[in-house]
Amino acid sequence: MNLQLTEKQIRERASDQSFRKGQDYYESGAIYNPARQSTSGGVTLTAQCEGSSAPSYRLQVELDEGGVRSASCTCPYDWGGDCKHIVALLLMYINEPGEFSEQESVNELLAGLEKDALVALILRLVERDPDLYDALELAIPAAKIAAQPPSSGTARKRQTQVSEETNRKQINRILKQAYRGDYYDEWGSTPGYVEDLGDILGTGMKFLDAGDAEGALIILRVLLEELTEDYDSNMDYDGDLACVIQDTCLPLAEAILSVELDPGAHDELEETMQNILENLDEMIEADDGLELILAALEYGWNELPDEETEWEEYDEDYWMILNQLKQARLNVLARQGDSDAFLRLAEKSDTKRYTLKLIEIGRLDEAVEASEKLENTSDAFAVAQKLREVGRLKDAIALAEKGLEMGGYYLNQLALWLAPLEESQGRNDKALLAYRIAYNESPKIEIYCHIKRLSGTNWENLQPALIKKASALYSKDVLVDIYLEEKDWDSAIRVAEQDSWSFNLLEKVADAVIPYRPDWVIRVSLKQSDDLIEKTQSKLYPIAARWLERVKRAYRKKGQDAEWQAYIDNLRTTYARRPALQREIQGL
Ligand SMILES: [Zn+2]
Repeated sequence: MNLQLTEKQIRERASDQSFRKGQDYYESGAIYNPARQSTSGGVTLTAQCEGSSAPSYRLQVELDEGGVRSASCTCPYDWGGDCKHIVALLLMYINEPGEFSEQESVNELLAGLEKDALVALILRLVERDPDLYDALELAIPAAKIAAQPPSSGTARKRQTQVSEETNRKQINRILKQAYRGDYYDEWGSTPGYVEDLGDILGTGMKFLDAGDAEGALIILRVLLEELTEDYDSNMDYDGDLACVIQDTCLPLAEAILSVELDPGAHDELEETMQNILENLDEMIEADDGLELILAALEYGWNELPDEETEWEEYDEDYWMILNQLKQARLNVLARQGDSDAFLRLAEKSDTKRYTLKLIEIGRLDEAVEASEKLENTSDAFAVAQKLREVGRLKDAIALAEKGLEMGGYYLNQLALWLAPLEESQGRNDKALLAYRIAYNESPKIEIYCHIKRLSGTNWENLQPALIKKASALYSKDVLVDIYLEEKDWDSAIRVAEQDSWSFNLLEKVADAVIPYRPDWVIRVSLKQSDDLIEKTQSKLYPIAARWLERVKRAYRKKGQDAEWQAYIDNLRTTYARRPALQREIQGL
């Protein structure tokens, strides 16, 4: 395995600041307990690092032939790119790989242990770390269902503990308060009653996930009944309740598919849903969801009309509903852990989910073959990422290359994901192509720099189109970034002045050109600070002071400290009676 991680790659994954600090961390030996495990298609590195807001942070990085596959750290850093701790860990790995102790994978560690031994082990672990209890409690319903024999979408008999009465009362209480306006709502945020109703919807879905479809059916049906009972679109002018109604329909259809209803209960439920659909407020767009529920009741797991031969029998909306029913069936089978039934159904109706399931259960060659039938960019991206995760980097790259040409959403994201992988394989021409596609979708200075770096002698031919693209954008940020990158100070100044209402742009250019165009900086900065001071609002003084700071630096650059001193002294005298301003310009 050729894991060729370079310092350049590490640098590109982090901001300049994170990279510098990461170097310091690495050099001062802040990383400890470094270890490596071999995984499918790569290695996983773990370590701890000394921290500032906690005694230590835990780090985990996955590497494969494409470079860094994933990286995580428990520190609070959240400002884009890798944090300094990850930088330090990666630097340690490329410089001192021998420091990383070799670890067996969890799979290897547990191999050969019998059930009793495993249970005893888990008990001891929970005793030592009580937090593990919560993780176990959450994971066990799904594990239990996965362990059950496949039941091809029919009912699991069990007596549910969910009470219809209690749920109905609770929902009614929330709705009454909502319509009376008893909830305190902050402007622009989700109203409290919508969150409370969302919690009930969430509870219904949890029952579904835990295998109690009877309980889920009660909760979701009652929720839908009560929500639609007195629905009034005038009261629900934001459409918040309409959203909850819409969101309830798919899980309710899945609950119906997961239980075995006797004929009487089936007909009663069908009638209820028919009535809801007929009496629904005309303003609400929940027809699709309700039609889906009715379709689930009508067809259950029976064969659906054939889209090829019976296309003309029904309208387009109806085919869409039947497609949603197929998705609902897949969700049920996925939840029940019935991979064979899932694959049989998905093979005919959903290539993406079919392929992802094959990957999930380790049938990778079949997955790669199936991925050839994918048709749009976002599906190709989803599958390519999974293929990389399971160690099939080359197949992932091949699929992503095709995905670039398919059309659909996520083209920009796919291209940016693919480009560094192509580069890691030494295929700079393909990396360049991917970056050009990404730039065309959404121009950014970082992408511009990659294209410049990779295009070699062709740069002169490529550059004009990139500048033209950035010029056409409403926001001139990228264009200014490009001019600054190219040290074309006068063009940057021209754009910033044309867009002078955009203060960020003006500040950015002023900061960048102090060493090269100090006269301009002095002129524009004085104008800005004068305007701000004139407004006599103390909240503007800090901004004025920042402009004055630029004036000072520009004078210094010109070797005219005395001129600056005269100016600031004069300013202090003029505004002697403005203490708030004086405070801000104190240190200048
Ligand atoms: Zn960190």
